[in-house]
Amino acid sequence: MSKRIAIVGAGTAGLHLGLYLNEKGIDATIFTDRRPEEYANVRLLNTVAHHSVTTVREDALGVNHWPNDGYFGHYYYVGIPGMPIRFYGDLAKPSRAVDYRILLPTLMQDFLDRGGRIEYRDVGVDDLTDLSDAYDLVVVGTGKGGLGQKFARDEQSSPFADPQRQLCVGLFKGIAEPETRAVTFCISPGAGEMIEIPTVSFNGHSTALVFENHIGGDLEILAKTRYEDDPQAFRQLMIDKLRKHYPITAERLDEDEFDVANSHLDILQGGVTPAVRHGHIKLDNGKLAVLLGDAHATVDPVLGQGGNMASYAAHVLGEEITNSEVFDELFCERVDARRANRVLGATRWTNFMLTNLRELPNDFVEFLGRVAMDRQLADRFTDNFNYPETQWDIFSSPENMVAWIEANETGAEETERPFAQTGAQS
Ligand SMILES: Cc1cc2nc3c(=O)[nH]c(=O)nc-3n(C[C@H](O)[C@H](O)[C@H](O)COP(=O)(O)OP(=O)(O)OC[C@H]3O[C@@H](n4cnc5c(N)ncnc54)[C@H](O)[C@@H]3O)c2cc1C
Repeated sequence: MSKRIAIVGAGTAGLHLGLYLNEKGIDATIFTDRRPEEYANVRLLNTVAHHSVTTVREDALGVNHWPNDGYFGHYYYVGIPGMPIRFYGDLAKPSRAVDYRILLPTLMQDFLDRGGRIEYRDVGVDDLTDLSDAYDLVVVGTGKGGLGQKFARDEQSSPFADPQRQLCVGLFKGIAEPETRAVTFCISPGAGEMIEIPTVSFNGHSTALVFENHIGGDLEILAKTRYEDDPQAFRQLMIDKLRKHYPITAERLDEDEFDVANSHLDILQGGVTPAVRHGHIKLDNGKLAVLLGDAHATVDPVLGQGGNMASYAAHVLGEEITNSEVFDELFCERVDARRANRVLGATRWTNFMLTNLRELPNDFVEFLGRVAMDRQLADRFTDNFNYPETQWDIFSSPENMVAWIEANETGAEETERPFAQTGAQS
C-alpha cells in the first residue's frame, strides 16, 4: 500500500521527517505558514546548535551543507565569588550552529528539489481533521507556539507553568573566537547563565549570545531593553553586563566593533515555558495525529536540546512510518516508547538544570569542581550533551553524580557502568 503522510510545520521536526520519508519513497506533503524566501527578513528565530548526533543524521539525509563550520568543545565558567571554576571539555565530533533563517529554507529547498511537496497555509485545529481524511497520518510539528499549545499537557512531565528565565538572545560581531572554536557556557550565580555559540549567519561567522536571565535578577533588564529604542545604549548595557557577569567572553570583546551581526532583527527576547504534551491526539473523526518536536516537548534552550530532540524524534517516527501499514493507537504507543528515552531525558535534565543552575546546591558545585579538575571527566560531560538521557542518568540523584565521577575520573578503577541506560544512542 502506498502511504500518504501530511506533516504540518517546516521546522527541524517536519523537515527531517519529510526528507527521511522522501528518501524512503514515501509520499509526504509538508503544510507550513512560511515560504523559504520569507526567512531572510524575519526576526532571529532561535540560536540552535546541532550536536553531532544530529549532523550525522543530516549527513545521511544529504542536507549537511556546512560540514566545515563546526565547533569542537565547551569552555565552562562558574563565577563563584572568590573561587571561580573554569575548565574546557572536547566533543568527540564537532557540533555546528547555523542561523535557522538560513538552515530551514535551505532544507525546504532540498525537499522541493527532491520532488517533495510543500503547501503554504496556516493550519488550524479543524484543518487537522480534514487533512486526516485525505492522508493516512497527520503529524503536527508546528513548534512551541500557536497550534501545539492547544493540546493537553502531560502534567507529570511538565513541572513549570511559566518561563523559568527571561531570555535575551542575539547574533553579534566583535567577539573574537577563543583559542579553540567552541561554545562558552557561563554561570553567574544569582543572575543567570550565558551561552556563547559560534554561528554561521548571513554575514558569515558570528557569535550567538544566549542570556538566560534569572527572573528578578541583575540581568533581567537585558530581556526588557529594546535594541531599536537606542542601539548605542543597548550595546553599552550588554558590554557592562558581560564585563560584570561573564568575564571569559568579555575578555575577547572589541568594544568598537561589538554590535548586532546583521541587523536589528538579530535580537530575540522573551521566555519559553517548558512543557511536554501527550504524544498524539484524537481528532473529531476518530483518527489520530502525532505531535513531533517542540509541539510535543518544549524545553528551555539553556542546554541546547530542543532541535536535537526534534531531529531524533523525527528519525524514530520516520522509521516507524516506513515499517508500518496501520497508524493506530498501537503505532502511536510504539513511537512514544521509542522516543521517550531521549525526549524525556532531555526534558528532565534541562528542568533539573534550570533549578540547579539558579540555586547552585553544594553537591552540584562539587560535581562541577571535580569535573573541572579532570580532563577526562570534562570531555565526557561535554560529549554527553549529545546524549541527554545519559546526562539525566548522572544528574537524577546526588548519589548518581558521585558514582559517575568515581567511575569515570582518571585513575579510578574501571567499574561496571552504574546507570541504567536504555535505548540505542544515535
Ligand atoms: C533562543 C533559543 C535557542 C535555542 N537553542 C537551541 C540549541 O542550541 N540546540 C537545540 O537543539 N535547540 C535549541 N533551541 C530549540 C529549537 O529552536 C527548537 O527545539 C526547534 O526549533 C524545534 O523545531 P520544531 O520543528 O519542532 O519547531 P519549529 O522550528 O518552531 O518549526 C515550526 C514550523 O511550523 C510552522 N507553523 C507554525 N504554526 C503553524 C500553523 N498553524 N500552520 C502551518 N505551519 C505552522 C512554522 O512556520 C515552522 O515551519 C533553541 C530555542 C530558542 C528559542
